[in-house]
Amino acid sequence: MRILVVEDEPNVVDFIEQGLKEEGYAVDVATDGELALSFAQTYPYDLIILDIMLPRLDGRQVARTLRTRGLTTPILMLTALDQVDDRVAGLDSGADDYLIKPFAYRELLARIRARTRTYAGETIAANELKLADLSLNRLTRQVERGQQEITLTAKEFALLEFFMLHPNQALSRTQLGEHVWGQDYYNQSNVVDVYVGYLRRKIDDGRAAPLLHTVRGVGYKLSAEG
Ligand code: CA
Repeated sequence: MRILVVEDEPNVVDFIEQGLKEEGYAVDVATDGELALSFAQTYPYDLIILDIMLPRLDGRQVARTLRTRGLTTPILMLTALDQVDDRVAGLDSGADDYLIKPFAYRELLARIRARTRTYAGETIAANELKLADLSLNRLTRQVERGQQEITLTAKEFALLEFFMLHPNQALSRTQLGEHVWGQDYYNQSNVVDVYVGYLRRKIDDGRAAPLLHTVRGVGYKLSAEG
């Protein structure tokens, strides 16, 4: 179980991090909203604990952006007692639950267990993505085409996962680039084309029915229909 804690107040971070580590959770900490986005899109987390008040991007913007980009990891939003509207806004932006600060440690653990249990149940059905004879397992990270196992790098996997979450949709280079590389995307002009090329070689080369198609003027799509 790996948890991302997003909070800029050192006391709160220490309190949460120390407790979670004692419980056996692996914990990463992001101290601002932009770091949170880049962590959440780079590493697989079982849960994100997200404070609303953050430097650079606030928690609601972070949650909304992650959901827009197709990330389904459960989000537990932290909010101050006097920010009742923020509580509602937090759930509107894509959070699954919220906890009012200051909270008792037991309360936090109970919420974490409830969230990760629900998630574990849902992922059994949702972790296996399929398109034609291509399959991708989000938990085991195995990829197969026609019973043949395909080995992908982390970036190739993230790219293919995004395609498989949006089958038959034309995805722009910006959508693909932002999802896989985050802010770094803007420093690497043709990185999407290069990686789509790598993916094509691995999933389509030598096969009668290619799945990765170029959509002129837009970008790429994954489709069995050509
Ligand atoms: Ca804060």
